[in-house]
Amino acid sequence: MTTSADEAAQVRAFWGRLGVPGLVDVHTHFMPGRVLEKVWAYFDAVGPMTGVEWPITYRCEEEERVALLREFGVVRFTSMIYPHKAGMAEWLNGWGGQFAARTPGCVRTATLFPEAGVEAYVRRAVEGGARVFKAHLQVGAYDPNDPLLEPVWGLLAEAGVPVVMHCGSGPAPGKFTGPGPVGELLARHPRLRLIVAHMGMPEYADFLDLAQRYAEVRLDTTMAFTDFSERMAPFPKTDLGRLRDLGERVLLGSDFPNIPYGYLHQLESLQRLQLGDEWLRAVCYGNGARLFGIG
Ligand SMILES: [Zn+2]
Repeated sequence: MTTSADEAAQVRAFWGRLGVPGLVDVHTHFMPGRVLEKVWAYFDAVGPMTGVEWPITYRCEEEERVALLREFGVVRFTSMIYPHKAGMAEWLNGWGGQFAARTPGCVRTATLFPEAGVEAYVRRAVEGGARVFKAHLQVGAYDPNDPLLEPVWGLLAEAGVPVVMHCGSGPAPGKFTGPGPVGELLARHPRLRLIVAHMGMPEYADFLDLAQRYAEVRLDTTMAFTDFSERMAPFPKTDLGRLRDLGERVLLGSDFPNIPYGYLHQLESLQRLQLGDEWLRAVCYGNGARLFGIG
């Protein structure tokens, strides 16, 4: 792990200069140890497979990872959990509840999968205090329009609980990624608080279209605009104006700890877009604070 007190000081200086009380990061990964180890093993294997190395910058114990976010001044963060098969989501949600209970600052996070019983366990999670969900269409390889999920989207829309959805086709496409399936979902559930993970990379423009069409659609910045992503899937310069205009619906996300660079780089990548301090204040703090009801 390559980090230092210096890094924390630089992150704090970033938001201190903006005059906000800290950062709200809607996209961080905390998960049961065994699951996280598998995720890390996957990223370790990615390099030799694709030629693009993905060294995990913050590979350390959970306690240390939480402490780092605190040192960075991240006042709210999530524990993005997601199943790759049936029979896992409810167990993950139990873990998510325990983690949030023992971790001040963590927004209680839950997940789902198209399977028997999904409506019941999603309802229990919401009633139990889950304030954000994660859905991963590429890893889970499911259609968001699966009839089993239909009542779930209605329930989440009504409860106003946001869903961070990995629905873009980066870094690898899945059968149900891309703007098509999600567009169908939103046509039926226009009030669903959908947060498009990674700005919908690489289909940025299509997902900005959806955000313009549906007032409850938001996008998280996770890994977008960084040197790493710009090499593979550059954000179209022609859409910078729309990105600025949608500033109220762009949320800071980082993918901490599974990132192949330091946390500060995500923040600097936002700053160098030159969309202004007001935009940065909204993205890095204000929008997330409003979404999660921070006073
Ligand atoms: Zn992620």
